[in-house]
Amino acid sequence: MINHLITQKNWQTQLSTVITSVDELLSLLNLESLRTQIYIPAHFELRVPRAFVGKMKKGDANDPLLQQVLPNKQEQLAVTGYVADPLAENEQNPIQGLLHKYQSRVLLTVTGACAIHCRYCFRQHFDYSANMPKSEAKDNIKAYIAQHPEINEVILSGGDPLSVSNRRLFAWLDILESMSQLTTIRLHTRLPLVIPERLDNEMLERLAQSRCQIVMVVHCNHANEIDSNTAEYLQRARSAGITLLNQTVLLEGINDDVATQVALSQRLFAAGVLPYYLHVLDKVAGAAHFDKEEAAAVQLYWRLLAELPGYLVPKLVRELPNRPFKVPIDIYKQV
Ligand code: SF4
Repeated sequence: MINHLITQKNWQTQLSTVITSVDELLSLLNLESLRTQIYIPAHFELRVPRAFVGKMKKGDANDPLLQQVLPNKQEQLAVTGYVADPLAENEQNPIQGLLHKYQSRVLLTVTGACAIHCRYCFRQHFDYSANMPKSEAKDNIKAYIAQHPEINEVILSGGDPLSVSNRRLFAWLDILESMSQLTTIRLHTRLPLVIPERLDNEMLERLAQSRCQIVMVVHCNHANEIDSNTAEYLQRARSAGITLLNQTVLLEGINDDVATQVALSQRLFAAGVLPYYLHVLDKVAGAAHFDKEEAAAVQLYWRLLAELPGYLVPKLVRELPNRPFKVPIDIYKQV
């Protein structure tokens, strides 16, 4: 019991003491010289957990984990085709807190908070304050799901749904499990990679007891994100009967080469996670410098097919507005 409370405190303490100061981050990494390259937009500040910083290499300005979180002046550039809401999610928001993009699944934005701010995030301009389900909205959400019998799966997303307390998370689980039409509850989260202790015993035990199938889709972009501690927590989740999948965003200069993608798939598998999606970048304003040309992504993909067993090759997809599924990229078009 005491150990459990210590662990509980630990992840919440980590969450409340994330680094938000660029000066502190650069100082910890001995990279003060990068200060002149920094630009922090008001809508999306620096935010990175200390445990994630601990996986970065000191003195390396090109560290692939640092590059994902360090705001820089390229974010100011207005690039044609890169917009605030690249997936037109504001048009698929039938009621507050619920997105209905795909036939049998709905997504709930249970919180706007994240443990980490990923500079390429397609929801960085999303108006969470207008889209978070308030307590009275839960009845509306239940009613909406009941009126759509084709819905059998609910995705808890955000923000990061695991940044809320177990009490709030379990309240959502109770509601969803009470609806007999739902068979699956999915959690989309980056927290297991950036604060692995979030996968605490209390939550894993609750998820293990669910009458629904629980799928956790983590978000990991580079093998360096999975150290031995992270792998151990992921394995615990797997032992609790949770199906673990990963989605990756293909990021220029960070994970856009074959060796990096192969290492990522292998490290994920060793930690009990199967690669699920490799997304090309959603064209969100401020993130154009992360984008990889589709032709280069296809070339990379053919090499992955050659080097990895099929079960370790994620699906190469692009998300497009108003499409009822993630669109597979045609790898034959450019052979
Ligand atoms: S954790 Fe996910 S939702 Fe949060 S900033 Fe990163 S990509 Fe966006």
